[in-house]
This record gives sequence, C-alpha cells and structure tokens, in this order.
Amino acid sequence: MQYFFDDFEFVEFVRCRFWEDSMRIGTGYDVHRLVEGRQLILGGVKIEHNLGLLGHSDADVLTHAIMDALLGAAGLGDIGIHFPDTDDRYKGISSLKLLKEVISKLLDEGYVVGNVDATLIAQKPKLAEFIPMMKKNLSEALNTDISRVNIKATTEEGLGFTGHEEGISAQAVCLLESIYDSSSVVYDSQSACNGCQGCRRIIQ
Ligand code: MG
Repeated sequence: MQYFFDDFEFVEFVRCRFWEDSMRIGTGYDVHRLVEGRQLILGGVKIEHNLGLLGHSDADVLTHAIMDALLGAAGLGDIGIHFPDTDDRYKGISSLKLLKEVISKLLDEGYVVGNVDATLIAQKPKLAEFIPMMKKNLSEALNTDISRVNIKATTEEGLGFTGHEEGISAQAVCLLESIYDSSSVVYDSQSACNGCQGCRRIIQ
C-alpha cells in the first residue's frame, strides 16, 4: 500500500476512517463516600468491610468510572445523563446491569470494547484478592474477553480523603473499536474518498 500524505483528499479519508470511526478513547473518574450501614460493592464483588459506599445505586465506584470512560469515548455524555440519581428505577440497582445497558448503547453506535484499564484507590480494605472476580464480572458485562480488562488497586499512603477512609475513588481508561469492517480501502491518490464499510459517512 502506498500513502500520499501530501494529498489533502487522502489525508481527510485517513482521518475519517481511522481517527473518528475505528477507535475512540475515553476516561472516567468517580468518588463515593464510605459510610456505615452500606454494602461495599466493587466491580460487582461484595466485599466484607465495616463501611460501604453511599449512593443511589449500589454505589459501585469502579463500575461507574468504567461506564463514564465508555460513554465518554463514544461521545455519549456520562452516567448522570443516562441514569439520573433522581430516577427511582435506579435506586439500589446493580451497576453491572447499568454497565450492560451502556454496552448496548455503544453497540447501537457501532462500537465494542477494545480494552479497559482501571484503578481503584482505597486505603482499606486490601483489594488484591478480589481483583480476579472483579475482572470476571466486568468482562462479562462488557461483553469482552477477560484479557482485555485490567483492574489495579492502590492506596494514597494515608493522604487525602481516600487515605483517611472517607471515601473510595476510581479512574478508568477505555478504548472502543468500531464494529464496521474498515479493511476494504476504496481510494486512489487522484480522487476523494469513495467510502468503505468502515465509514458511516459515505461520500458519493
Ligand atoms: Mg458514582
């Protein structure tokens, strides 16, 4: 394959096919307060602890950060828009169910999950032993192979609100991939993009 990067039309085609449709990156961040009398659920795993996370749903901060990364990558806003905490339908709901809804919305837009990398930040409890089950739960809800999901846990060395055990935060990054086949290249250096299966903005 020969590339003609001085050809404006071809450069526009590359931008369209690879940068806008083929892959999208998103980030997510969430925090929930630790309180007594609530369950601690992270990545769909119930963890024995004297404190749990406060929230309208099950307050699964890890799953929330991942959902925000996914929605952000697809340009679909955030979970507050799709699942408002003023809606009783989401009161106490499993965040894994909401994640499945997000995946359905992404599929409607033509995207599947490429990979997810997320970090939990908590002083206590120790989370390492629960990470394999979190990855299993999340990969099933994400409808992707478990090898494409990475979860890490760290502390902030006793500093700040996580260090003082006032709350737990989570960060996530994701890559979305287009479900459309971008392999059939239809162009030449002398003409504009003619469109292909990987592009939903077909130019006649
Ligand atoms: Mg949240």
